[in-house]
Amino acid sequence: MKIGVLALQGAVAEHINMIGKAGGEGVAVKKTEQLAELDGIIIPGGESTTIGKLMREYGFIDEIRLFAKQGKPVFGTCAGLIILADDIVGEEQAHLKLMNMKVQRNAFGRQRESFETELAIKGIDERVRAVFIRAPLIKEVGPDVDVLSTHNGEIVAARQGNLLAASFHPELTDDYRMHEYFLDMVKQAHSSSVQR
Ligand code: GLN
Repeated sequence: MKIGVLALQGAVAEHINMIGKAGGEGVAVKKTEQLAELDGIIIPGGESTTIGKLMREYGFIDEIRLFAKQGKPVFGTCAGLIILADDIVGEEQAHLKLMNMKVQRNAFGRQRESFETELAIKGIDERVRAVFIRAPLIKEVGPDVDVLSTHNGEIVAARQGNLLAASFHPELTDDYRMHEYFLDMVKQAHSSSVQR
């Protein structure tokens, strides 16, 4: 399975490395023309305003919406989660507006700007290592969104069909099971599109 990592800004190389460990082929994506050859795409962490602006400039907003509407899986981590959301607390403009959720940027405040912890993630394990860096939280979800993980009662991972979102950086640990989970989503989407 060929998985793209949107390479406009942010943590790209680490994701490509993790995709490889999980058994897929990771490629850096800089042009919309590359989307046609991908089975799934990851939108990495970084700075969501910058990533959103560059996505608009390079035509990725419409093209990734189309990619997702075709049933191909999209995984947003940290800033990527913000990019996927329908709504961002306190901001007028959202980005891809693919996932039925409202998110809050930099939701942990200055005291907990970055930390590492273990999370119970539905469908993976009770203990998965996760690194949070100026992380967002999912404050509200629609009925079609499945909550996969919470931390202190707040939502930090969710799935809506072929869309996956995590507040944290799963690529910054040596635990690649979150990438394995995404790769399984990609394999399933791939085999059901072949059957169709
Ligand atoms: N704080 C960043 C934002 O709001 C996200 C941080 C990250 O991706 N590590 O865009």
